[in-house]
Amino acid sequence: MTNPIPFGRPFIDEREAEAVLKVLKSGTLVHGPQTAAFEKEFAARSDAQEAVALSSCTAGLHLSLFALGIGPGDSVAVPAMTHVATAHAVELVGARPYFVDVDPLTGNIDIELLHSANFPNLRAIMPVHYLGLPCDMTAICSYADSMKAVVIEDCALAVGSTYDERPVGTFGLCGSFSFYPTKQITSIEGGMVVTNDAAFAATLRKVRAFGYSKSLEERSRPGQYDVNRLGFNYRMSEVEAAVGLVQLEKLDLILALRRRNYELLAAEIEQVDGIKSFPTEHGAGKTSHYCFNLVLAAEHVHLRDAIQDNLGAAGIGTSIHYPSAVPQFTYYREKYGYTKGQFPVAEWLASGTISLPVGPHVQEEQAIAMARTVRQTLERLLA
Ligand SMILES: *Cc1c(COP(=O)(O)O)cnc(C)c1O
Repeated sequence: MTNPIPFGRPFIDEREAEAVLKVLKSGTLVHGPQTAAFEKEFAARSDAQEAVALSSCTAGLHLSLFALGIGPGDSVAVPAMTHVATAHAVELVGARPYFVDVDPLTGNIDIELLHSANFPNLRAIMPVHYLGLPCDMTAICSYADSMKAVVIEDCALAVGSTYDERPVGTFGLCGSFSFYPTKQITSIEGGMVVTNDAAFAATLRKVRAFGYSKSLEERSRPGQYDVNRLGFNYRMSEVEAAVGLVQLEKLDLILALRRRNYELLAAEIEQVDGIKSFPTEHGAGKTSHYCFNLVLAAEHVHLRDAIQDNLGAAGIGTSIHYPSAVPQFTYYREKYGYTKGQFPVAEWLASGTISLPVGPHVQEEQAIAMARTVRQTLERLLA
């Protein structure tokens, strides 16, 4: 193809640039009106009472567990197929992640395996809306209730995804979103935790900033404060929030373009034998089209890298979500002694899928050409 298509490219124009300049010239780089406005707008968009802006989605996951006092001796259920951040957040508080294999149809946590697992001291379940397709939140929340565990949704790839016609993030206690540059919208780096629990949001605000007893606005004298609990510096900057606010205004457009590109790819690729993709709707869940996934039939898995190389040579950027089942990453394998084959579905997805770009940076003609090239490449290599 004439112009290479990267897997992800932030959808940035003069509006973000102007917003950033304005913040830089204002002199207020943290603790300012941009972050407050971004929280308010994001909460409204998420049908959530509260939104707490943070330095990343990982910070949000970690902070949520930390704020709940989850730690050594506790266990947290995590899907075996996710970004390592989900499991790392659990490790960082000293609790143990218990990996649950995923459903081959959706890539989301397998509900039957969740029910049949035997978790010691289960305190939380962290469902991940894999590639933006919501998990079965009704089943997960009712299981969590029966176990007296909380639900913390990993919504990193799910801005704009809905379950039962409601935005994801508040089906359990809270949900953490990512604004990393390749996600649906970006704030450069950044994350947001949404919740309907005002007391929990207040705790998050406190522990994202050192555990100060009083926030900047609440202090009667500048520079004077007490610290009444342990905390981090996980704040979002005003520059990041300003970018996020402009991106939020573009969200409907971004989601529409993602859907268009997704459907153009699906129309061609669905006709290739030996290739599947994930559903865009499942149960009450609807995706926000993070990417188009090629899921190779078992007999073609050995061709994955060759397909990826051929697409790259044709100018099509790809990604892999994710390159290993999390328990098979060296850190987890060595720490907990996992062996190959313990998470067969997650391991198959790690070796047998390729993610194609559908972001708003892909023009309509490019998406049409890409769909044709992908189909031809697959037909040639799978023949
Ligand atoms: C990207 C991603 C994260 C991490 O997000 P950051 O904002 O980079 O911390 C966490 N979970 C999932 C599922 C992701 O895809």
